[in-house]
Amino acid sequence: AKVAGKSCYRFYSRAMDQAVERRMRMEQDLHGAWERGELSVEYQPIYQLADGRMVGAEALLRWAHPRQGRIPPSVFIDVAEQSGLIEQLGRHVLERACADAVRWGEAMPDQPPFVAVNVSARQLRGGGLPEVVANALAAAGLDAARLHVELTETAVLGDELQAGSLLARLRSSGVKVWLDDFGTGFSGLSHLRRVPVDGVKIDRSFVADVLRDPDDLALTSAIIAMAHSLGITVVAEGVENEGQHDVLRERGCDLAQGYWLGRPMSADALMLQMRTPAQG
Ligand code: C2E
Ligand code: CA
Ligand code: CA
Ligand code: CA
Repeated sequence: AKVAGKSCYRFYSRAMDQAVERRMRMEQDLHGAWERGELSVEYQPIYQLADGRMVGAEALLRWAHPRQGRIPPSVFIDVAEQSGLIEQLGRHVLERACADAVRWGEAMPDQPPFVAVNVSARQLRGGGLPEVVANALAAAGLDAARLHVELTETAVLGDELQAGSLLARLRSSGVKVWLDDFGTGFSGLSHLRRVPVDGVKIDRSFVADVLRDPDDLALTSAIIAMAHSLGITVVAEGVENEGQHDVLRERGCDLAQGYWLGRPMSADALMLQMRTPAQG
């Protein structure tokens, strides 16, 4: 039994070593990846449901690894977050997103679109976010009101007081703050009173089942109604078909994004898309 236990241990330990080694190698590869041009930012269009107009876009980081090909952000963002690299990467994304939004605005001066940038818990906890954001806006010459910052519920809930004051500072500069993946945490809407936000993004797990599962439809409708009573904008993400789009519009959801409306694309492709007429 002793021998079996030992080899068992060794087996698991080797598997664990491999996982650790993979992460370490990924972290090494991620160092300087922006400078080498392996990282890029794509944008997924966001539409106003009432009239089908494209009003903005979400910036999504992409990594074309020289040997492994495309690595999804769900994998490398986590590594970047744990190693602290996310602070630097996040700055690059903010700067690029602000510069791209300025170009879109020049092409659409009547209704200049906003750009939404994801910010991770670590970037928020670093404390320097308001300065980083202010610098990116100034460098690009972007109006603060056209930058939206997306934070997950869990990022905010770790330390509501500190997060609350940071978010208040951001908002007082004119930047809009959205809560991402809303409904997946246990926070519920009561936290919206303590954490000041401009919008919530209904998580796509609710949107996915909105036509099939009456509970998800009820929850989605409740989020929309309560957010509106607090003066908060509601965005639905992961809209993959016309039925979901139509029911969300009927329920009064303000904005939506998803594969059915538009996939993530380059900044230039988005600029072309802006001029094409409304969906729905
Ligand atoms: P997220 O913020 O929830 O972003 C939305 C994700 O849903 C994106 O995945 C997007 O491509 C995907 N998506 C959009 N429409 C649909 C749809 O109709 N159906 C489905 N199934 N998926 C859809 P992506 O690009 O793989 O990003 C994954 C996550 O990585 C993001 O989730 C975000 O948390 C994180 N991330 C991406 N870029 C950044 C970044 O620049 N900074 C930080 N901190 N996190 C980022
Ligand atoms: Ca997001
Ligand atoms: Ca999300
Ligand atoms: Ca469900």
